[in-house]
Amino acid sequence: MRVTMVGSGYVGLVSGACFADFGHTVTCVDKDPGKIEALLAGRMPIFEPGLDALVATNVAQNRLAFTTDLAPAVADADAVFIAVGTPSRRGDGFADLTYVFQAAREIAKALTGFTVIVTKSTVPVGTGDEVERIIREANPDAEFAVVSNPEFLREGAAIDDFKRPDRIVIGLEGERAETVMREIYRPLYLNQAPILVTGRRTAELTKYAANAFLATKITFINEIADLCEQVGADVQQVSRGIGLDNRIGAKFLHAGPGYGGSCFPKDTLALVKTAQDAGTPIRLVETVVAVNDQRKRAMARKVILACGGAVRGKRIAVLGLTFKPNTDDMRDSPALSIITGLQDAGAEVIAYDPEGIEQARPLLDKVTYAADAYACAEGAEALVIVTEWNAFRALDFARLGRSMAAKVLVDLRNVYRPEEVERHGFAYTSVGRGEG
Ligand code: NAD
Repeated sequence: MRVTMVGSGYVGLVSGACFADFGHTVTCVDKDPGKIEALLAGRMPIFEPGLDALVATNVAQNRLAFTTDLAPAVADADAVFIAVGTPSRRGDGFADLTYVFQAAREIAKALTGFTVIVTKSTVPVGTGDEVERIIREANPDAEFAVVSNPEFLREGAAIDDFKRPDRIVIGLEGERAETVMREIYRPLYLNQAPILVTGRRTAELTKYAANAFLATKITFINEIADLCEQVGADVQQVSRGIGLDNRIGAKFLHAGPGYGGSCFPKDTLALVKTAQDAGTPIRLVETVVAVNDQRKRAMARKVILACGGAVRGKRIAVLGLTFKPNTDDMRDSPALSIITGLQDAGAEVIAYDPEGIEQARPLLDKVTYAADAYACAEGAEALVIVTEWNAFRALDFARLGRSMAAKVLVDLRNVYRPEEVERHGFAYTSVGRGEG
């Protein structure tokens, strides 16, 4: 199959490279010339483990190409995937569909022969109908079908998620489109990945329901963690105790600083808006959004408390900036609110992240960046673990203790056991561990 990806970001590039690896002929298009230049030169515009090798192999075998020129790439394609951003719209939090509709208009003009246009971007219910209307209006003679195929990959494990998905959801009407979509995903079907073929609106909503559910699970355990701190219980053990129940499942039950990233915050908010507009508000998710927003700032207060109630003029070292490990993505990372909260209270912040520093720079003011965890901690009155990168999982506490101004560790990801840190003379604060 000839596949074109419009948008070569975290989703478009990974999906495109994986489709090429399945044997399809793929062109990844992006309107950002810097991204395409980098890709043509063999450099990855994002950090995603394994992506550089996957791209290099498929480029070498002539199955994967990159361009800023959308029209020829669309004209040749059996399927054109829209994988552009759908950020929160300023002001009301609804998904901003400007990029999707713009892509649809550009695709419309370039269509030749029957083409399946697939929205892979996360889009609110009814967006497929609007994409169809836009294309029909721009090119009344075009032969096409609009399909919804939401993506469930996780940054940091994106290639594995794409190649071994729990399920593939395809929302469509019409046999012709179904034949093309089944052919594209045939290698995964052979691997027995469940393929759910639904109506288009159902597929669109399934993505939001999945993300809202996961965000709810995280928020639930975070509130249980707060309660644990008050009543002398251990959230790690509560998580394990409930997670071993198959009806609940162990994943997404790690208490921490609140969810962030490029998906959960904007998708929960967009679902809230869709539901309100439809006259069926989802109050549970509205609460999740509000609780999570408050939590990020509350984490700054937790650090301040660990520093004796004031951080004015104090140097605070932050380890981990990205919203989770193994990505360079800084969008809506809890670190942003935590660092700003500390700075508002007068702290001087120094930070280190293995991959996120370049993306963090434009988002944060007056932060100094260190070259590694130990340089970051030097002279600091507290060390705060915000993201659980592997590099922070076996810190040398004796070495840290010698170079820090005060032995204070705030572990917002519960990476360590209290005893092992306290043994080195550190005052240790974590999340939801009220025992002891
Ligand atoms: P991204 O910002 O990394 O990439 C989007 C790309 O689209 C950018 O490179 C941009 O330049 C390009 N673009 C925008 N308009 C274009 C146009 N008209 N023509 C060509 N290129 C254009 O975004 P992302 O993280 O890949 O997310 C894309 C979509 O996938 C979003 O809807 C997101 O919610 C969804 N999604 C993301 C993830 C994730 O983990 N990042 C997971 C599942 C779903």
